[in-house]
Amino acid sequence: MVSLKTSRELRLMREAGKISQEALLKAGEAVKPGVSTYELDKIVRTTIEKAGAVPSFLGYGGFPASACISVNNVVIHGIPSKKQILREGDIVSIDAGALYEGFHGDNAWTFPCGTISEEAQRLLDATRESLFEAIKMAQPGNRVGDIGSAVQRYVEARNYSVVRDFVGHGVGAKLHEDPSVPNYGTPGRGVRLLPGMTIAIEPMVNAGSHQVTVLGDGWTTVTRDGKLSAHFEHTIAITPDGPVILTAL
Ligand code: MG
Repeated sequence: MVSLKTSRELRLMREAGKISQEALLKAGEAVKPGVSTYELDKIVRTTIEKAGAVPSFLGYGGFPASACISVNNVVIHGIPSKKQILREGDIVSIDAGALYEGFHGDNAWTFPCGTISEEAQRLLDATRESLFEAIKMAQPGNRVGDIGSAVQRYVEARNYSVVRDFVGHGVGAKLHEDPSVPNYGTPGRGVRLLPGMTIAIEPMVNAGSHQVTVLGDGWTTVTRDGKLSAHFEHTIAITPDGPVILTAL
């Protein structure tokens, strides 16, 4: 069941989104060689808690931290650790959400650590742009397949691949709601987008093949071929006037 939010609920989701974005940007500013992923997670948690919200991911399905921090060939769901120290040239995906007054925001961004290779920069640029191409399609009357195909076309035209095993999702009172929002699809197919729907669009893009493996910890998801992966996400509201990014300051 897809839930449609009232204008009051959308206002609360906008607040949750602002807090989520603030936490993400603050952690992103701290991405530097020598910093541990544990320290980044702490920034996410304190930023969210200072704003009077609760980290959406902490304890979710047993996840042990406030942010997923996924470095280089880790696609998503990396577990922050004191032992993982960032190095010059790493790409660092941070995924964080805030629960505020009963509603979640959810967003992610891949940050460069110091100077990164041209190859890595191209992957980041393509993944970020595919997100904004997809957001343009989040119009009332369009369908979920229009979003997925926008990501897929943009990414595959640059010889990258979209992850199939994990997808975007509805978001609201629950962190994961209907509908699923895949990063692949057929234009004109799937659930119709209606005003009041709130969805997390989140391209996960691999430099090599789309195949991923979940490691023995049950969370850390890596590219099977060991190549780089990037992840960008915003929570969006479908409105009569078009898409509104809720996870913006
Ligand atoms: Mg998400």
